[in-house]
Amino acid sequence: MKIVAATTNQGKVREFQEILGELGFEIVSIHEMGIDVEVEETGSSFTENALIKARAVSLLCDDMPVMADDSGLCIDALDDAPGLYSARFAGEEATDEDRNKKILELMKNAENRHAYYIASVAFIFPDGREITAEGKVEGEIMTTEEGTGGFGYDPIFYCTEIEKSFGIAAPEEKNAVSHRGRALKNLCEILKKEMEE
Ligand code: IMP
Repeated sequence: MKIVAATTNQGKVREFQEILGELGFEIVSIHEMGIDVEVEETGSSFTENALIKARAVSLLCDDMPVMADDSGLCIDALDDAPGLYSARFAGEEATDEDRNKKILELMKNAENRHAYYIASVAFIFPDGREITAEGKVEGEIMTTEEGTGGFGYDPIFYCTEIEKSFGIAAPEEKNAVSHRGRALKNLCEILKKEMEE
């Protein structure tokens, strides 16, 4: 089954494909569909934002299922920031590197370095039925960047579950425990049941 991924983030598209490809799904990005849409993330939760993105793209894709995720990094010592604002944390024009530098600076003297990634995934069938699922992974904020794997905050996120940073983890190691991997696994369980009915 082909699924349209409602995101322009290439890191996310790649992980959707890596995780869902194994289950026989083919991910088509909005770029490949020739869709150019700006969606304002006005929701007050990750799930609301995932639904907002998926619904906006679903309106433009008549007979294909659409999925979107909204995800972020929540850091205890920063009152769960950057959280919902993870993509825009150091301003609209900032790069991943700018954001990582800003976090390392803010966390310079922090003793409690606990953090977690969270992802909500929304899936919309062509008939309008909606499914959502969540996933989470625990970790700590490192004191320096490490590795070039993954994307976004991965070089500063030490995953306590696999005992290495996502910056040096192989894609399959990250996907096996990641917030997105878990959200997609939960989504697939629900999808299987929906498709059996
Ligand atoms: P959004 O879901 O498009 O609002 O963006 C979420 C932001 O959170 C991304 O742009 C990244 O900065 C960060 N993020 C989410 N998931 C990951 C991940 O798996 N690795 C690194 N950064 C992530």
